[in-house]
Amino acid sequence: MSDKSRIEWCDATWNPVTGCTKISPGCKHCYAERQWPRFHGREWVDVPLKGQIAETYPEIPTVNIPRPFTHVMCHPDRLEQPLRWKRPRKIFVNSISDLFHEDVPDEFIARVFGVMAAAQHHTFQVLTKRPERMRNFLVNCAWWEGWVTHNGSPVEKAYRGNGIIVGSRQTGWPLPNVWLGVSVEDQSTADERIPLLLQTPAAVRWISAEPLLGEINVDRYLLSSYDKAAHDYQMLGAECRSDKLDWVVVGGESGPRARPMHPAWVRSLRDQCEARGIPFHFKQWGEYMPGLDASNEQIDAARTGGWVHQSGGFHDGNNADAFQGGDAHVLRAGKKSAGRQLDGQLLDEYPGVRPCAT
Ligand code: SF4
Repeated sequence: MSDKSRIEWCDATWNPVTGCTKISPGCKHCYAERQWPRFHGREWVDVPLKGQIAETYPEIPTVNIPRPFTHVMCHPDRLEQPLRWKRPRKIFVNSISDLFHEDVPDEFIARVFGVMAAAQHHTFQVLTKRPERMRNFLVNCAWWEGWVTHNGSPVEKAYRGNGIIVGSRQTGWPLPNVWLGVSVEDQSTADERIPLLLQTPAAVRWISAEPLLGEINVDRYLLSSYDKAAHDYQMLGAECRSDKLDWVVVGGESGPRARPMHPAWVRSLRDQCEARGIPFHFKQWGEYMPGLDASNEQIDAARTGGWVHQSGGFHDGNNADAFQGGDAHVLRAGKKSAGRQLDGQLLDEYPGVRPCAT
């Protein structure tokens, strides 16, 4: 966790949970897993013996091992951190884990929401690949009540029941300073996760399409059902229940085994957002950038290159049979050199916050 971040769309990261397990193709080269030995290599944990070994040695219930990435752990001692940061920040919650992982207890998630309710001066950006649990938790999880403390003193009563979590300061619901989002990487993960997100109460709903691994059509998620039915928002009092995306973030993969992103996939999402007036944020090209747009410096920086199919396949261009219509030439210039300009522009848009009912 850090009150500074190199992630382009946030100011700080806050990790009250660490560790995770992979659940989709976007997880394949997980950044958090790559960084794990650096930050957690010296932690040791007791884990139960399993399978044949457990049967052979029943007298040894646990073994002490270096903590693996898959060992999800909650850190109550980190809960107060945002309360200590006085300057308002955009805070990415759990940049190296998933708050809605099945190993995180409901009570701990409620405490995280309690802190977010207490720290109204910050904006919290929650991102998950487990939106079904997020929706169920925020809509119909069992009652929980507890105090958020700061320097050992209670500062906020966080509770949930009848589908709400609020602080004792009447912060309103959904919490206006919490943006809930899902990570998606292709059309199938988008169609699986976005509808669940849209069923979740949130002041702002967003997607992070990173690493973008295929073309995604999100047009139907950029228009609320109220828009579609041409209803009057004010008459329905429906601003906060507007069931559409409010923000789209896109990025390519970085790291040693990064998969290239077809430039047309990015342009398509940008154009869909522009057509519906939805804020669009282009985070990065990642390892690969469009060869056609490369400057001399970027060409010099490139270690290699190749061609990406619209379907996501990649080839080096040495075999004429490998070419398909729509292939794009990409250069492996590296994340830093590839940068984050799309057609000569930096696209750094952010959502406005809808007025919410209290
Ligand atoms: S959900 Fe996120 S943190 Fe967890 S394995 Fe996948 S990419 Fe990594």
